[in-house]
Amino acid sequence: MKYIFVTGGVVSSLGKGLAAASLGTLLERRGLRVTLQKLDPYLNVDPGTMNPLQHGEVYVLADGAETDLDLGHYERFTRCVLTRENNLTSGQVYETVLSNERRGDYLGKTVQVIPHITDEIKRRIRSFEQVGNADVLITEIGGTTGDIEGLPFLEAIRQFILQVGPQNAIILHVTLVPFIKAAGELKTKPTQQSVAKLREIGLQPQVLICRTEKSLELEVREKLSLYCNVPVDAVIEAIDVDHSIYEFPLMLQAEGLDEKVCMLLGLNTPRADMSEWKKIVTSIIDPSRRVTVAVVGKYVELQDAYKSIYEALCHAGGANDCGVDLQIVDAEEIEAEGAEKYLSGVDGILVPGGFGDRGTEGKIAAARYAREKKIPFLGLCLGMQIASIEFARNVCGLEGANSTEFEPATPHPIIALLDEQKKVSEKGGSMRLGSWPTVLKPGSLAHQIYSHTEIAERHRHRYEFNSDYREQMEAKGFIISGTSPDGTLVEIIELRDHPWFVAVQFHPEFLSKPDSPHPLFRDFIAACIR
Ligand code: GLN
Repeated sequence: MKYIFVTGGVVSSLGKGLAAASLGTLLERRGLRVTLQKLDPYLNVDPGTMNPLQHGEVYVLADGAETDLDLGHYERFTRCVLTRENNLTSGQVYETVLSNERRGDYLGKTVQVIPHITDEIKRRIRSFEQVGNADVLITEIGGTTGDIEGLPFLEAIRQFILQVGPQNAIILHVTLVPFIKAAGELKTKPTQQSVAKLREIGLQPQVLICRTEKSLELEVREKLSLYCNVPVDAVIEAIDVDHSIYEFPLMLQAEGLDEKVCMLLGLNTPRADMSEWKKIVTSIIDPSRRVTVAVVGKYVELQDAYKSIYEALCHAGGANDCGVDLQIVDAEEIEAEGAEKYLSGVDGILVPGGFGDRGTEGKIAAARYAREKKIPFLGLCLGMQIASIEFARNVCGLEGANSTEFEPATPHPIIALLDEQKKVSEKGGSMRLGSWPTVLKPGSLAHQIYSHTEIAERHRHRYEFNSDYREQMEAKGFIISGTSPDGTLVEIIELRDHPWFVAVQFHPEFLSKPDSPHPLFRDFIAACIR
């Protein structure tokens, strides 16, 4: 197995995850089997308990692992199937080492960062070898070089490379080459310093991926090469992409990144055929029409909080030869000023997932607006719960209907805690998580969209539609078009008297890729166009 470590320098948010994923795209198209792993230096065991405004979206894997959003990029850009092994946090490393210690595994020894923590990190990197389904492992290290908390990971990588040999493992350093307007110059010093920081701890990057606003002249490349001890052809320019993140693999290929990486690792492979990928990118960046979709949420300040949803909308746009303009609406503003002001004129409305009662009344108003004005509506997870509450209140006349998450004493608990959740007290990793099957009602819109009767989708929730209200709601035109195979859990709902109103208890956004857009999103955008 060959190993590629991706580190970041100078600042965060450089798109390390995208760089790792894009390299994955290219290596797969050179005929290699690739898997990707993220090492996160924080102490949370997983990001599942973190606020999306702090950390961005929590990405859920098929096996139910709650992971960093970079794993979403990995799955969208490649065919690799990720499991909880693919996201390792310091919290998990310490949890394992400390429970080994309590069991007595290190009896007699002092337990230390070196070797115990670093050994556990190396074991987790190595574990992919035993699985045996990949030729190359790309490991991204979260954070920025120089962070105290990232040091054990970097030290583990130093030891690891020593063990497997430099012909089997390389370091790719993603860095920033800022343009100083007043001087009219690109500056290489921050990169020199962050590489110096790596070298201080015994790591020498073989490739630099330089994020920059301006093209790197030969002179700049030579300077980076000289000071960072990297050959000039391993200085890769990553100029800001104008239109779409899916251009990134094409750009890196043009810079010779995959060629260089394969040469360094002795991987004799043909050039990647990117023609299909190019077609997809063209359909995304140069569509012949546009629609506007309002996303009514509460984590609106941070682009990353609804990452997979925005990506899925973009893929669906590409499939419909249509650009999707997002109108991000803060649900609390709707509460203050009404739906009309923020939603009139939009072609579709989407209510995403969420937790807690802030903004829920605004989302309910948005669902009502979509239902009454016959605007295409897609509800995801909390979005389905919201749509159900709205229907119960305003069509079935169940005054005060609510979810017990927001109003424990509601007279009509349309949404209530799942039975299995009643005994759960810990917050971490304890929701209904991961991939579960759903059976679709023949002849329903959902059935038509999926063209299957059984599907599997990823979940992350504690509350469910309360089946006591099924009959009453169905009598008024509320359609339950997807349930768990035993029929107990409501997974998809639609409305009879509406052109396109679908809401789901799961997260279809996690399964959408640019080369296979999710059918629900694709059909939603088609409805928006109509
Ligand atoms: N808060 C809701 C629940 O736990 C919805 C969760 C979500 O949208 N992911 O059921």
